[in-house]
Amino acid sequence: MVDVLIIGAGFGGAVAGRILAEKGKKVEIIEKRDHIGGNCYDCFDDHGVLIHKYGPHIFHTKIKEVYDFLSRFTEWYPYKHEVLANVYGTYLPVPFNLNTLHKVFQEDADEIEELLVSTYGKESRVPILKLRESSNPKLQKVADYIYENVFLNYTMKQWGKKPEEIDPSVTGRVPVLVSYDNGYFQDDYQGMPKDGFTPLFEKMLKHENIKVTLSTDAKNVLKLENGKIYRDGKEFNGLVIFTGAVDEFFDCKYGRLPYRTLHFVSKYFEEDSYQPVAVVNYTVDQDYTRITEYKKLTGQKVKGTSIMEEYPASYTDPLKETPYYSIANDENLALYEKYQKEASSYKNFYLLGRLAEYKYYNIDGITKKAMELAETLS
Ligand code: FAD
Ligand code: UDP
Repeated sequence: MVDVLIIGAGFGGAVAGRILAEKGKKVEIIEKRDHIGGNCYDCFDDHGVLIHKYGPHIFHTKIKEVYDFLSRFTEWYPYKHEVLANVYGTYLPVPFNLNTLHKVFQEDADEIEELLVSTYGKESRVPILKLRESSNPKLQKVADYIYENVFLNYTMKQWGKKPEEIDPSVTGRVPVLVSYDNGYFQDDYQGMPKDGFTPLFEKMLKHENIKVTLSTDAKNVLKLENGKIYRDGKEFNGLVIFTGAVDEFFDCKYGRLPYRTLHFVSKYFEEDSYQPVAVVNYTVDQDYTRITEYKKLTGQKVKGTSIMEEYPASYTDPLKETPYYSIANDENLALYEKYQKEASSYKNFYLLGRLAEYKYYNIDGITKKAMELAETLS
């Protein structure tokens, strides 16, 4: 018998599992896929190129404790993520920043830069929806340009909605930068695990108190009934940390939580290089949102190159699709609360992670949350 049962071997489950194991708890992690790492799993494709099976992942954080904790399991390849938008065949740095401004607005750019600095401050981060509220006609013109050419089409593809129709925190992730920084993230710690994410997970989960059981759906081994938790039919009195989709676990009894999914199309080219940077966003055309060229992300020296196109869609078929992005709005959060309430009626049953908390976590956010939860449970 173990002390802690964790459902899911992504960052949430693995970080919590490692900390609890180090505190002396016997931990079992049950994972329905045939591999660890959750959506951050990476592997070599048929051409020997290291790819991320579930879309590109770049580690970045401002939180030193998170960086220090993960650094116990990996060295870092010092990669600074810079993204270009393909706007009618011209590459523009995103987030839209002062370099982009000068490229697009040329002779008017100095005056607009002064306006941006005097209105919002140097180095400030201005969400596009806030910039659009400006009453200054020159700033309005810039805001309209950015909205039309960077946000509108990409957001329609990604969410099936206009930027103003989704939670403002989503487009706020990629603000207009009143600085000359071309970086996608402005975090002190950034990088890629030197040997990949999967080896990071292997090291994190290698502990005498951790057992990992793959290819096992929690729904087949875990039952919650009348306030009690059962494992394979026997009452389980330990802790359970659940990181899967909470609606599916409760048989969608209150209704299905809406998600966006992604379909990935992978391609290999004999050429050494496909595009100028690791990620190019297609912000005005194409059906895919972005193309990732993996060797430029991981720093792998390899002949040929592998790319991945991302096609967003609404999530309709749990058997064939993966729920990637929760859709935060009042209606969905109210539905989520019903599941959360039901889950919290079971003592020792904890929801953690992007799916179980129906929350848009980055790697650092979920790592921090898992560290905190594990501390309170140990
Ligand atoms: P997951 O990684 O989804 O892990 C949950 C695990 O639980 C999965 O392995 C799943 O198979 C398992 N599971 C679910 N249900 C069950 C069940 N019933 N039984 C058993 N196992 C189950 N973050 C960044 O910081 N940087 C990035 O560049 C970045 N890029 C991203 C790109 C994409 C396309 C997406 C979708 C996300 C990105 N993220 C990024 C976010 C990052 O993926 C998450 O923060 C992280 O994966 C969350 O970890 P988690 O443990 O909550 O969930
Ligand atoms: N976004 C956009 N154009 C871009 C980049 C981002 O419209 O070139 C918007 C879009 O709505 C997206 C959100 O900003 O969903 C957040 O982007 P981010 O790159 O953080 O998304 P993720 O990497 O999580 O998919």
